[in-house]
Amino acid sequence: MVMTEVFDKLKDLQDVLAEKYSLEAKIADSPKQLESQEELLARLKKEYIEKHASYETVKAKVEKLKEELAEAEASREAGEKGMDNITTHREYEALDKQITEATERENSVRKELQKEDKNLEELNEILHSDEEMIKSQETELESSKASLNQEIDSYKKEHSDLEKKEAEISKDLDQEIVYKFQRIIQRNTEGIVAVRNGVCTGCHMILPANFANEVREAENNGDKDILFCPYCSRILYYEEVSEDQQEDYFDMGVAGSLAGLDEDFDDEDSEEREDEDEEIKSEFDDEDEIDDEDSEDADDEDDEDSDDEDDDEDEE
Ligand SMILES: [Zn+2]
Repeated sequence: MVMTEVFDKLKDLQDVLAEKYSLEAKIADSPKQLESQEELLARLKKEYIEKHASYETVKAKVEKLKEELAEAEASREAGEKGMDNITTHREYEALDKQITEATERENSVRKELQKEDKNLEELNEILHSDEEMIKSQETELESSKASLNQEIDSYKKEHSDLEKKEAEISKDLDQEIVYKFQRIIQRNTEGIVAVRNGVCTGCHMILPANFANEVREAENNGDKDILFCPYCSRILYYEEVSEDQQEDYFDMGVAGSLAGLDEDFDDEDSEEREDEDEEIKSEFDDEDEIDDEDSEDADDEDDEDSDDEDDDEDEE
């Protein structure tokens, strides 16, 4: 395969992979969408249980007051009945006392009973409205779950379509290159970038002049000579720069700060990528270009550096 064809395939693969990884992230994150609804429901249920417990307490109190009231009533009625059969003034006084005390107790218990009955009724209403709220919250959560599942299904379908495309594009490429490429894109979205004016447009580092030349010449060497940026390990292809652009570049000063270069090569998310570049730089620190000779060493390093990732891939 000629080099330009390889680069074109890699660019296509890059788009497919970036989309695929972003879908994977969406699928993994999707249960979070239900978190706040689930938390609300759990809180409502907890409060309901607490309120129900105080309802039970008040209910028991009401039962006890009813018993007390019945006792006081019975005592008063017995006194009143006794009045019909009294023979002495002493008996009268005793019964009169019984009736008075029972009536007083009756009145005070009845008063408290009214208060607690009202309390119980209010609690009962609150419980009913809470039950309604819990039911509607459960219904809402169910429908959110259903639509989320639909969403996830459509993500999964898209994902499997992308995997088919990925397999189709990758089948003619060197599998080792594809493997490395996947891992770069998992972190950076961009895995293949141009070399312009001797600068890697992925990380904006100035490449050694002879290395930049190798990138230029690699195009004629066929697909055995894919070169990686020694700083950010992205795959590099050479891009011719017009006279005008070259002048701009040199006006700014080759030795100028990297911040200056950033502005010059500003594109969508260069700042964000800067951070990611740092990470990659350290991981691939000693890694130079990968070709057939030293690719084994480079692979060993990779494996040590990113066990986590390997685990992920194993699961799949
Ligand atoms: Zn780079």
